[in-house]
Parts: sequence; C-alpha cells; structure tokens
Amino acid sequence: MEMTVEREELQAQMLRAMAHPFRIRLLEALSVDEECVCHLVSLFERPQPFISQHLAALKEAGLVADRRVAQRVFYRAADPRIADLLRIARALAGGSEQPPERHTAVPGCNCPKCEISRALARER
Ligand SMILES: [Zn+2]
Repeated sequence: MEMTVEREELQAQMLRAMAHPFRIRLLEALSVDEECVCHLVSLFERPQPFISQHLAALKEAGLVADRRVAQRVFYRAADPRIADLLRIARALAGGSEQPPERHTAVPGCNCPKCEISRALARER
C-alpha cells in the first residue's frame, strides 16, 4: 500500500505542476520540438523571467528536460508520452485530438532555429 500512496503522491505532484493554462501551452510547444528560452519569449510574447519561472517549475516536476549547446539551453518535454497525456486532456476538455502543429519561424525571433528556418525559406 505504501508504494501506491507514494506513486499517487508523485502523480499528484506532476499533475499539479501541469495544472496551469500557460504551462499546458508551454508543454504542448515543447512536446513538438525543443526550444530555447528566447524562442519561447518570442512565441508567447511574454517576458523572459515569466517563461523561465514556468520552465523551472516544469523541470522540477520532471516534465521538462534541458540540454546545453554552447551558450544556449534548449528545453523539451522530458518524455514523449507527455504529448499523449496533453492530447487526452485536450480531448476530454472538448478540444482537438490532433497533435499541435509544428510552428515555423516566429517573426522577430533571433534564435538559431528561426534563423535557419528563415535562411532555408530564402533559398527556396
Ligand atoms: Zn525562434
């Protein structure tokens, strides 16, 4: 029984960390692809401390993982099943069963991915 209680407490912790409209948006974006903070700032048009604070809470709950590339930290959903969890929660709330679309370059974003995506679009 103790094991079950522990596991239930862990699940509750995880769900509590997700239980915020903006964190759901963040996790949905990070379940599609990894992103750096500056990209998330451009994508959501929110200040960097706001983004960082929510990322830290999601990371603390084990929902977000990060990796450092040179000076930059990229964040992603820590497990591919998080996308399934979000999809089911979205459907239960009356939303779409479709996975969120992969977004293209965000206007004004100078992150490496947006720079590359714009450069590729110019070549076409
Ligand atoms: Zn970007």
